[in-house]
Amino acid sequence: MSTAIADLPGPFAARRVIEFEGPYLAPEFLLPDAQPGAFLATKASQDPRFYEKATNKVVMANHSILIVTPRSKILVDTCIGNNKHRPRNPHWHMRTGPFLEDLKSIVALADIDYVLCTHLHGDHVGWNTHLQDGRWRPTFPRAKYLFGRTEVAFWQKAISSDPETNHGSWVDSMQPIFDAGQAIVVDDDYEIEPGVRLVPAPGHTPGNIMIRLEHGGAISYVIGDTMHHPVQIERPEWSSKFCWDKSLSTQARQSLLEAIADTGAWIIPAHFPTPTALRIESHAHGFKSCG
Ligand SMILES: [Zn+2]
Repeated sequence: MSTAIADLPGPFAARRVIEFEGPYLAPEFLLPDAQPGAFLATKASQDPRFYEKATNKVVMANHSILIVTPRSKILVDTCIGNNKHRPRNPHWHMRTGPFLEDLKSIVALADIDYVLCTHLHGDHVGWNTHLQDGRWRPTFPRAKYLFGRTEVAFWQKAISSDPETNHGSWVDSMQPIFDAGQAIVVDDDYEIEPGVRLVPAPGHTPGNIMIRLEHGGAISYVIGDTMHHPVQIERPEWSSKFCWDKSLSTQARQSLLEAIADTGAWIIPAHFPTPTALRIESHAHGFKSCG
């Protein structure tokens, strides 16, 4: 399924293509600091869009964000993918969902100019490739795939000692892009075109990046996994169990919230459920979201 995202300022349009959305993980599993007493004291825990009380699961999504700018079509984060061998994660293993058909219903694969992964975990690189005649090939035939330099260096080192790192996703979802000559390793603050640039936000992973869309002083950010769930707007100090450096990750959230609060800027995260894009307001004790 694909849905439009709230009107971004300026010449940008964004849609999300959803691979999965629903109650997914216990809050205290995703965010080890979100123990029941603390979690249930938050506003997000009272919002059925974000938390299912009956099952004690936070509602999450896996989606790609398609950004259309005056010059380019940019696909940000490529989810888990189909047919990927991920036996250590049953939710990711050998999926057969309609993601690609949903994406094709709004854009031709050959019209994607850039694929951009905010970081290289297995749920952000999956549709980089698809199975064709038994081999993993780039899904987007004309696209330049942009990867941040710090992130690539970190995972290349990890992969050299253990190819199964990140559930083996480098082997089937990254290496074929390099082999096809479509990978471009860029600086962590690379400008794609005027108004569209990468912003380093290390913490979730060493080279985690966000995408900043600016037009006439109005700014929106596609933030990947800098936040995993709306409760982190209230509790930016809660890092996910998947974060590489919890204190850097907290710092990245705090700086982002301080920079955009009360400016009307949108954040578009990789795992927030509908409505996904939120604006931030400050108040006496911190931050809150508004639609
Ligand atoms: Zn993720």
